Amino acid sequence: MRDGPLRRLIKKIALLRYTIDLGITRLILRAKGEPRYRLTGSCNGCGKCCESPMIPVSTPVFRLRSLRWLALTWHRVINGFELIGEDRRLKLFAFRCTHYDPVTKQCDSYDSRPGMCRDYPRNLLYAALPEFLPECGYQAVYKKAEGLRKSLERANLPPEKLQEVLKKLHLEEKE
Ligand code: SF4
Ligand code: SF4
Repeated sequence: MRDGPLRRLIKKIALLRYTIDLGITRLILRAKGEPRYRLTGSCNGCGKCCESPMIPVSTPVFRLRSLRWLALTWHRVINGFELIGEDRRLKLFAFRCTHYDPVTKQCDSYDSRPGMCRDYPRNLLYAALPEFLPECGYQAVYKKAEGLRKSLERANLPPEKLQEVLKKLHLEEKE
């Protein structure tokens, strides 16, 4: 259901807080040399990232009933995210987004989408080994790929193994 004026206002305030928080976090990470990857490609509109958005949370939010209730209520009432599952090991909540239309693959409230939707898939660049959805038009490329690729090529690996390692370590850019 499309966001009304009140929900848009609340989401605007939440977005401001999210942007400041993210900006500070990324500044600290940049000072530590992160991310080690750069983003290439573009969005092809496949809609896969909207099919079941996942949100990692802290241990207290995942385990403490009151914090968990607050977080899930916020996501349901404000963001339109309905809980459909969770991953206990990774402390992730998986949602169905009520703004997503699977037929048109469009968001009915794109202008007021949450910060996490705006940041995706840039957030993946901060993982040790970024994993993109297979349909995604974006790709992560290791910033020092060239040197590492040359070393691997000198190692005389069988061609299939070399391709597998290059792909796994994000050392190749898709055409
Ligand atoms: S709010 Fe919009 S952009 Fe975010 S997951 Fe839902 S449909 Fe996708
Ligand atoms: S999965 Fe990637 S290509 Fe598909 S809609 Fe999301 S960002 Fe765009």
